[in-house]
Amino acid sequence: MRRDCGSRREFLGLVGSGVLGLGTGSLLVSRALSETGSRDSDPRVADLVVSNANVYTVDSRMPKAEAFAVKAGRFVFVGKTAEANAFIGKGTRTFDARRMTIVPGFIDCHNHAPGNILLYEVMVGNPYEVEFVTIESIIEKLRAKAQKTPPGFWVDGYFFDDTKVKGNRQLNVYDLDQVSTEHPVCVHHRGGHTSYYNGKALALAALNKNTPNRTGGTYDRDPDGELTGRVTDLARTVFTNVGRRETFTEEQKEQRHRDGLAYISRQFARYGLTSVHHEEGDLFALQQVRARGELLHRVGFEASGELLEAMITNGISTGFGDEWIRFGATSEHTVDGSFSERTMALSQPYAGTNPPYSGNITEKQEDLNAWAERVERAGIQPNCHANGDVAIDMVLTAYERAQRVALRPDVRPKITHCTLINDRLLRRLQALGAVPAAFTTYAYYNSDKFHFYGEERMQRTMAYRSFLDAGIRAAAGSDFGPGPFAPLMGIQGMVTRTGWNGETWGANQRIRVEEALAVNTINGAYNSHEEAIKGSITAGKLADFVVLADDPHTVSKDKIKDIEIVETVTGGTTVHEK
Ligand SMILES: [Zn+2]
Repeated sequence: MRRDCGSRREFLGLVGSGVLGLGTGSLLVSRALSETGSRDSDPRVADLVVSNANVYTVDSRMPKAEAFAVKAGRFVFVGKTAEANAFIGKGTRTFDARRMTIVPGFIDCHNHAPGNILLYEVMVGNPYEVEFVTIESIIEKLRAKAQKTPPGFWVDGYFFDDTKVKGNRQLNVYDLDQVSTEHPVCVHHRGGHTSYYNGKALALAALNKNTPNRTGGTYDRDPDGELTGRVTDLARTVFTNVGRRETFTEEQKEQRHRDGLAYISRQFARYGLTSVHHEEGDLFALQQVRARGELLHRVGFEASGELLEAMITNGISTGFGDEWIRFGATSEHTVDGSFSERTMALSQPYAGTNPPYSGNITEKQEDLNAWAERVERAGIQPNCHANGDVAIDMVLTAYERAQRVALRPDVRPKITHCTLINDRLLRRLQALGAVPAAFTTYAYYNSDKFHFYGEERMQRTMAYRSFLDAGIRAAAGSDFGPGPFAPLMGIQGMVTRTGWNGETWGANQRIRVEEALAVNTINGAYNSHEEAIKGSITAGKLADFVVLADDPHTVSKDKIKDIEIVETVTGGTTVHEK
């Protein structure tokens, strides 16, 4: 059966291990072999022995090692080269790491994994790196799309970032009218909480300067009261049923979802991610991608809507599945707005807003309480999106109550983002055993937005130092699309708190490289109750690891994000090599 996508991998798989096995170049491993078991039934003979490496295990019982052995997709030995060599038998592949650094595979606990958007839609910004674009380039790209789209159909642009625009100008309705006056046009901010519309879209939704704001959202206006085209959070629901959208047959939909997932899986592997928590998605497509041998990372599937409902009513709880596709916590249950787009719910209004604006709350306390209780009773790990201190307080109130009434053990209620905290919230997080999945790449990528919050608040945001000091197992949650997912960019930001523009915000929240590594590996495993099987290079755990060209502990701290990912290995299989 053909399981491999890359021709070289397939070639190696077909040729087998004997001939190429003792090379010292790549540790490329055939997926077919590693998934179906081991080459040799003798437990003393490994499939792969890696030696002469600078291994950071992220296992406190043995933090450093120089070698390890892998069999049937798991580590079977970790320690010294001489002892690892004892696992070499006929057919064992060996890899001399030449002192290169090896760390556990990175784990991202919050990712929307929008593969089909990346593959099929118009990108008006760079999803992966800091890059400035012009408004002209956005108009041009969308105009090209409009020319291929029948009038009346939506023209959409994705991965816009309002602080990555050359000339520092805001995108507005007049810009988007230049794309088309016959198509509704929408530019989606990568943050996911604000969008920009042209005049045709506003007209189709019957919006004008006299339309009042809606609860949980705004129609932004210029000083003359005219609509700017920027619409926030729940106010965007008026666009749901207006205009026409491209339709696809069931087969086409299936194929797009499948190809999109396979595509994003390759991107994750490229950056060293071996486990990613997906916010919803197409479960059927995911299984097909896996069956085709194209799933290169492990998926913690976080359900919402009908699927979550089906889980609750049919007794499917967190942990159902296997180590490749597994139901994790719920998808983020949204309680407030966004950090990057400045709509998160604050106890003190945003500086310089008149009338004073304190962000958007999108959920009522009593509804949140009922939701958390229902989910916990069903044996499902609850997960709420809360950025501002007001929203975190609401979520903790609901979780504390659920814990009292549902009495489930070891729930580890999850808070996605958990951005702005204070001492009181910190104590409650700790008492509850809550697991935050805080922003990772933001400290580097979004430093241009932190002046909206100011230094005092920034000292309490993405509070990794405070979390770890309080014994809270904070994990990494890139929130891709909103944030790039590159784990090394995340680690650099956690260690330096310095952004691409050289600004440093909240330096009191800096953590050490080894702590940032733990946040991105073992704490990620803990976040989904999987610390017994992954998150460190430990005998018995899944053989997920990353070979790095440099050691993040010793390179200049502002160069961590540039370290090359030499190889990514999931379950003993090479899924990326440079
Ligand atoms: Zn999210």
